[in-house]
Amino acid sequence: MPDLFKNYIDGQWVEAKSGRTFENRNPADRRDLIGLFPASGAEDVEAAVSAAKKAFAKWRLVPAPKRGEILFRVGELLRQRKEEIARSMTREMGKILKETRGDVQEGIDTAFYAAGEGRRLLGETTPSELPDKFAMSVRLPLGVCALITPWNFPMAIPTWKLFPALLCGNTVVLKPAEDTPYSAVELFEILEQAGLPPGVANLVHGTGEEAGAALVRHRDVQLISFTGSTAVGREIAAACGQSLKRVSLEMGGKNGQIVMEDADLQLALEGALWGAFGTTGQRCTATSRVIFHRDIRKKMTEMLIERAEKIKIGNGLDENVQMGPLINEAARKKVHGYVQIGKGEGARLLTGGTIYEEGEWVHGLFYRPTIFDEVTPTMRIAREEIFGPVLSLIEVKSFEEAIEVLNATPYGLSSSIYTRDVARAFRAIRDIEAGITYINGPTIGAEVHLPFGGVKETGNGHREAGTTVYDIFTEWKSVYIDYSGRLQKAQIDSVD
Ligand code: NAD
Repeated sequence: MPDLFKNYIDGQWVEAKSGRTFENRNPADRRDLIGLFPASGAEDVEAAVSAAKKAFAKWRLVPAPKRGEILFRVGELLRQRKEEIARSMTREMGKILKETRGDVQEGIDTAFYAAGEGRRLLGETTPSELPDKFAMSVRLPLGVCALITPWNFPMAIPTWKLFPALLCGNTVVLKPAEDTPYSAVELFEILEQAGLPPGVANLVHGTGEEAGAALVRHRDVQLISFTGSTAVGREIAAACGQSLKRVSLEMGGKNGQIVMEDADLQLALEGALWGAFGTTGQRCTATSRVIFHRDIRKKMTEMLIERAEKIKIGNGLDENVQMGPLINEAARKKVHGYVQIGKGEGARLLTGGTIYEEGEWVHGLFYRPTIFDEVTPTMRIAREEIFGPVLSLIEVKSFEEAIEVLNATPYGLSSSIYTRDVARAFRAIRDIEAGITYINGPTIGAEVHLPFGGVKETGNGHREAGTTVYDIFTEWKSVYIDYSGRLQKAQIDSVD
């Protein structure tokens, strides 16, 4: 009998009201069934939102430093279970152990950061224009927040949203991705163990179309915090526009790494390989384009091919493996489809471009590291998010052209430039259209105490992480305290 996992609603582990379930399998070996999870519908969402609404009445009044103490305990428990969670995450979604350990670490860092924020959560005090009057602004929670998350960072992304939301005094319902429900179960076991009161955080599994859409529609949900594809984000934004719900969107990317002729090529090579093939290319910040100066093109291309062909593919639980599988069959079909599109557009396939199913790997969803040369900025493989181990090489003649090419996509999440010229580095910081720019580092590797998010079709103006995420999960209230004992009129009495 397969393991049967449940939703977590109002402090209880419960099945979907319909009794329906869905399977979760290991992408490195599809024969390995992790378990069955509730295929929740609108009635389960109703129960979760109603529990969150009820819990909000008390939770909003718990002092923020106390809420922070609970999150501190959550961080400690995550730290204790780090290795176990990393292992089950690799089994569930395929990326290698080093990376799943990093994913859990991001959750730990976010918990400790949020715990500290409990003793800050700053508002402003500012002078009034009138005598005997005091002015300040304070942050208040919103109410019930719905968090909808993707599968590629099963711990980091839910915790980025969950911990700040809770710290600010909101209650939440999390709908994790269908491909990584088990990681969410582990996170909620820890929340329960840390003493989070019932109803404050609720977990509802299921598909986006059913459980996700029911959350987006629900009248008692004040905010949708979504990370995922731009196509789904657009739909959610449209629905939230109709209901005037606050919505924070973190979406796709088509990130580029510029390599100038004066760069340290070895460093640029290591960055490109890690950025393009880490997490099998399935990061929103993955490097999917290397934009290099023509003077170093030949050398850099040779170095890239040689190293890409040596990448050890396999089950991420093996410490020697460097690249795991793609998440599911649809993802592999999509990646392979883009390889055909690239060939059709006239790009030159240098290496890879095929499914990897040698020996025991026939049961997994593996794909070879793939590199295309002679890519032009208007090709689809240079503009659209592939979300797999496919790297496009684009040659440029100057720094100005490199920036122009880097900016020539609908997305604007992460970016990088390798150069030893400090003036070029600063111009790149100024001119690149992206939420993140690395100088002499790959496009991946964000730290939790800096704002995270992107411009253009990557986001809608919000930033997660850092102090900026606290703007997503709070409402500002301006407060005026008049102790003059008379009616004072702003803009009228203050003039002259
Ligand atoms: P996805 O958009 O398919 O799904 C994301 C989540 O939305 C899932 O939980 C899914 O069930 C839910 N969903 C789907 N349809 C829905 C609907 N109609 N209503 C409500 N919810 C719905 O994305 P994915 O395949 O899980 O993740 C990959 C994408 O996420 C990539 O585009 C990647 O760039 C992006 N991503 C962005 C960031 C970022 O911070 N910018 C981080 C990680 C991943």
